[in-house]
Amino acid sequence: MKTKTILISAMALLLAAASIAPASAQRRQMQMTDEQKYLDAMHRNITSDKLFGYVEQLSDSTLEGRLAGSPGMAKAVNIVENYFKEWGLKPAGDNGSYIQEFPHPCVEVFPGSTMEILFPVYGQKRKDTVWISKSYPWADGWFAGGMTGNGDITAEIVYAGFGVTAPELGYDDYAGIDVRGKIVLVEGETPNTSRNDDTLRMWYDHTLHQTKLNNAVAHGAVGLLYLWVPGPNAPYNEGFVYAHVTDTVVNDIFRGTGRTYAETVKKIYETKKPQSFHTGKKAHIRMNATYNPDATGKNIVGIVEGSDPVLKNEYVIISAHLDHLGMIPYHIAGANDNNASSAALLGAAEALAKSQVKPKRTVVFLSLDGEEAGLTGSTYYTTHPLFPKEKVKAVINLEQVGAGEMLSASYPYNFPDLPKYTEQANDRYIHRILFQRESRYVTRPRTDGVVFMKAGYPVLDIRAAGGGYYHHPKDNPSSINPEILQSATEWLYWTAIMIADE
Ligand SMILES: [Zn+2]
Repeated sequence: MKTKTILISAMALLLAAASIAPASAQRRQMQMTDEQKYLDAMHRNITSDKLFGYVEQLSDSTLEGRLAGSPGMAKAVNIVENYFKEWGLKPAGDNGSYIQEFPHPCVEVFPGSTMEILFPVYGQKRKDTVWISKSYPWADGWFAGGMTGNGDITAEIVYAGFGVTAPELGYDDYAGIDVRGKIVLVEGETPNTSRNDDTLRMWYDHTLHQTKLNNAVAHGAVGLLYLWVPGPNAPYNEGFVYAHVTDTVVNDIFRGTGRTYAETVKKIYETKKPQSFHTGKKAHIRMNATYNPDATGKNIVGIVEGSDPVLKNEYVIISAHLDHLGMIPYHIAGANDNNASSAALLGAAEALAKSQVKPKRTVVFLSLDGEEAGLTGSTYYTTHPLFPKEKVKAVINLEQVGAGEMLSASYPYNFPDLPKYTEQANDRYIHRILFQRESRYVTRPRTDGVVFMKAGYPVLDIRAAGGGYYHHPKDNPSSINPEILQSATEWLYWTAIMIADE
């Protein structure tokens, strides 16, 4: 009986203490200025440790490199969606869900895909020629093509420069060569070296991977070696196989031809004349791939509603792509590209969702799909907007914010006031070296931010600078600098608040 009384009074004391603590915390909160409340939410929720945890979670190999439309990407979507749910963000996708879904065919590439070069060793007679095969290490020599067809081919390699056929510009890499049944070796971009806006526009279509691959197919080639970083940003052509190669492989292909690769490209740039030729080497490309025409892409959309009854109908959108390259045919984590940015988006989302004070305007968290597959998620959003475009005060898009030690932002030339927010946020709270530049976005778009710029949105396309790897297995969590990731997240957080509260 006595023991019970003591227990009860001890519990009463505990309860009393418990009810005092939140009251004093609440009082402290009430005495805080709005700025202090934002700072409080930032320090509680945006820590380098937590952000790095998101990067690791999204970089896990069970997510299979997060290819748009693939089962691995579905797992990544689930992770982000669950965080939005847990923190109480309001869903703003299709039919009251967090998801904006759209058609997104994809190719899954599997191990068993290989690429090797065959070199001739000539005998006395032509029929005595023996072909020696050389294989190269994955990543440092080759990657599977992201949208390759399934197949196994061995054919002669024809060097076709930039793979461009541009009669309107008087330039054709395929003139005078026959590539029917052959494998072409081409590289990215075009022979144009001018940075003049009008000239860039004239060559624009020929810079696209889509144009190059379709051009090779149109000329009857059966396969392609592409000197360019890997990615699924390409058209699917049934049975047409291709692989990305590095300059190690290209230099080998040029061996014994009396030319070098470096001199040949230089000659094209200087003369604006193609230098295509039959290399006398063969390639054996085997791609173990399946095409899924019915796959779908998924943008994830959650909001923190504005606190002002009128201004809450205006928006600041924070976007970052969640997808990456998939298995080509092995895993690339894409820790910096773009899990660091997804982590920053999540960090800012949690802090704002839990902050005691909310910005006047609504902040939209938009996790995009399909950037690597040709900016498909941002393109779908801009053509199927979920918020009225004229009510969007800014889109802050994040790319690769997890490596290096500096910050950078680009903004459209027709919105010259935008960089003042990023500058103020950095000057006041972050203190990193910051580069800002105006963009006229006339070259091939490399970020979702540029897609929004082209659609007429006021965009801050932000990234970290000074380190990191790109589309390579070394872009894994060990290359992430958690300090710059935290800085970039805090910078994003304050930039968004400044615009949303003004
Ligand atoms: Zn990216």
